[in-house]
Amino acid sequence: MRPPLPTLGPQPKKSPVGPVMVVSLLLGLSAGGVWWWKQRLVSETPPATAEQNAATAPVAQGPGEAGSTATPPSAAPSGAPAAAPTAAAPVDPLSAAGLSRAFIRIDGPMETAVTAAAGPSVGPALAQVVTRTLVWWVDVPGDLRRGDSLDVLYEVRPNEEPLVHAVRFTSNKTGQTHRTYRFQPEGDKNPRYYLPSGEELELRLENSPLEDYEQVTSLLRDGRRHKGVDFKTPVGTPVKAPFTGIVRRKNWSFRFNGNCVELEEVGGKHRRALFLHMDELPRSLKVGDRFNVGAVLGRSGNSGRSFAPHLHYQLEATNERVLDPYESHRTYRRSLAASHRAAFEAEVRRQDGLLGTPVAGG
Ligand SMILES: [Zn+2]
Repeated sequence: MRPPLPTLGPQPKKSPVGPVMVVSLLLGLSAGGVWWWKQRLVSETPPATAEQNAATAPVAQGPGEAGSTATPPSAAPSGAPAAAPTAAAPVDPLSAAGLSRAFIRIDGPMETAVTAAAGPSVGPALAQVVTRTLVWWVDVPGDLRRGDSLDVLYEVRPNEEPLVHAVRFTSNKTGQTHRTYRFQPEGDKNPRYYLPSGEELELRLENSPLEDYEQVTSLLRDGRRHKGVDFKTPVGTPVKAPFTGIVRRKNWSFRFNGNCVELEEVGGKHRRALFLHMDELPRSLKVGDRFNVGAVLGRSGNSGRSFAPHLHYQLEATNERVLDPYESHRTYRRSLAASHRAAFEAEVRRQDGLLGTPVAGG
C-alpha cells in the first residue's frame, strides 16, 4: 500500500491506471487516445463545488523505473560543480545526480507522449508537473502541435510527484525553443523556475494574496475548468487582501472548501475574492469586517478537499462570472538579483549538460 501522491491537479478518480496504461500502450496510439478522451471527460466534469482538486491515485513503482531512483540526489544548486561531465567520469552523471531525462515528441495527447518516453509509473504525474511550466508559454493542450518536442530533466521521488529540474520545449505554435531551470538563489525560501534571461518563468500578481509561495500549480487557462489559481505553499503562509474589502462569508461548504473567506471589494468593480483551504481562521475574523489592501486575513492551509498545502484564490465579478486573476491584477516578472547571476548561469550549464543534446529540430 502506498500513500497517494500529493499532486494538486485533478487526476481522475482512478482505478487501475497501471493496467490501463499498459493496455493502451499495447494497443497503440488509437487506444491511448480513447483512454485519454475518457480521462478528459472525467476530469472535465466539474463537481458541484468551487474547488475541483481531486485526489491522485497511488503511483505504482514499476520494475522498469527502479534504476533512476537508486541514487539519492546529491547536487545542491550552490556548491555543485558547474563543469560539464567529463568523459573519464566512471559513473553516469545523470544517475549520479539522481536525475532522469525524457525526450518527448508530442504526437498525440500529452500524457500519452510523456508516458511513452518516461514509462507508465512516472509518466502521468510527470505530464501534470511539466504542464505547470508549459502553461506560461502556450495553452495546454490547445496550443500543443504534433511534432513539438519536450526535453525534461526530472527527479523521481518515492511517494511524491516527480520534481522537474529543467524543461526545453520546442513549440510549433510559437516557433521557438523555450527553456526553464529550477534554481534557488542563496537566501531565498523557495526554489523557482527561471528563464535563461534570469527572469522568473511565472508571472507575479501585483497585490497578490501571497507574498511568497513555491509555485502556481493550477491556472484558469490550463484546461481543467478550475475556477481559481492554486498556489503551492506551506501551511501558515500569510494570506493578504488583494484589495480593500469587506468579509461577506466564511467557512461555507466546509467539507470541500475547508476554512474559507470571501472578501468583497469596496468601490471599484466590487469583485469578490474567495480563499479556500486555509488554516483555521482567526477567531476575531467576522463577517462584515473590513480589510485594507495588503492586510493579512489569515494563513494558508490544507483544509477541506485539498491534498497538499496550497491556497486556492478565486476572483469573481458581481454577476458571479469567474475572473482570471492574471488578467484582473496587474502582473510583472521578477528577475534574479545581479549577485545571483553567476550561480544561476553555472546551474544552467550543469542542467544543460545533464539534459544533453536537443533532439533533432530543436
Ligand atoms: Zn484550487
